[in-house]
Amino acid sequence: MINKAWLFLLAAVYCTWISKAIGKMISRKFVGQVNQMTQLAKVIADSNDLSKRVAISDHPDELSNLEEALNGMITRLEDAFEKQKRFVSNASHELRTPVSVMQGYLDILNAWGKDDQELLEESLQSMTEETYHMKSLIENLLFLARADQERLLYEPQTIQLNELIDKLIKDTRLITEQRIIKSDRNESVKIIGDPRLILQMLRALVENSIKYTDPGGMIRINCERCGEQARVEMIDDGIGIPETDQERIFDRFYRVDSARHKKTGGSGLGLSLVKKIIERHEGDIEVESALGEGTKMIIVLPLSEEVEC
Ligand code: ATP
Ligand code: MG
Repeated sequence: MINKAWLFLLAAVYCTWISKAIGKMISRKFVGQVNQMTQLAKVIADSNDLSKRVAISDHPDELSNLEEALNGMITRLEDAFEKQKRFVSNASHELRTPVSVMQGYLDILNAWGKDDQELLEESLQSMTEETYHMKSLIENLLFLARADQERLLYEPQTIQLNELIDKLIKDTRLITEQRIIKSDRNESVKIIGDPRLILQMLRALVENSIKYTDPGGMIRINCERCGEQARVEMIDDGIGIPETDQERIFDRFYRVDSARHKKTGGSGLGLSLVKKIIERHEGDIEVESALGEGTKMIIVLPLSEEVEC
């Protein structure tokens, strides 16, 4: 009887010891992993180095979930920093070019060209063009910065979209006589939005169609009601966009082929603005294009009233 009691006591002590040892092992591993995460957070805070990640442990679940969440957060931060760095470097590069051109002309004029009438006129023309380019670049950058901070001036009202499109067609015909601007259909459609922004967005799209369509080409601007949405199409028969680039044309400073743009000008910001304006109006934009055949931009915007397609 006594032996049995001793055996039972011994087993109980043994079990307690074993479970304590296992508990210690687990908690040591747990603490080790938590320490690793703390170390990583310190490294990021001290050095801004976002290239490191926590090693994912095989157990327990809660801990590996936390590690994965932490790694995911660092990856997103790293992407955002990279994007920011690229943006600043592109913006500086784009601004430096016109400044350098102006500096060049000023140096020549100062050195020996003041009395050369022809050079004077050429310099004035180039500097005017560069100033215009720089002003529009700065305005676009400010617009995007305001949009990023959700500080875009937005004064919504009911817009008769077809009337805005009629105006756009009329204005566009005045600035480009060498392309045919027409509309196959322009239905009476009302949306809620800021007419100034909507016009800016349509102008940026039509500007692209003009830029990337040779003289004699055709640009069509259509508008129709579709369920609870207004659908606008901007169609041109210009140079088109390769399939591989279509996803990226809305990225800031992205241009399909830099060589082509030496001729056409532009900084690759137009479509980023277009996208921001459409997002502000809770709409969407899609591109359909084939190289050498033309481009169709499809914009959908919510209607101010429910109308059947
Ligand atoms: P910016 O608008 O700042 O003056 P951009 O026209 O080059 O310069 P986006 O309007 O953002 O820039 O367009 C991005 C790129 O997409 C263009 O550089 C061009 O390569 C391509 N693209 C856009 N619209 C068309 C189009 N209708 N036809 C062919 N290519 C286009
Ligand atoms: Mg453009």
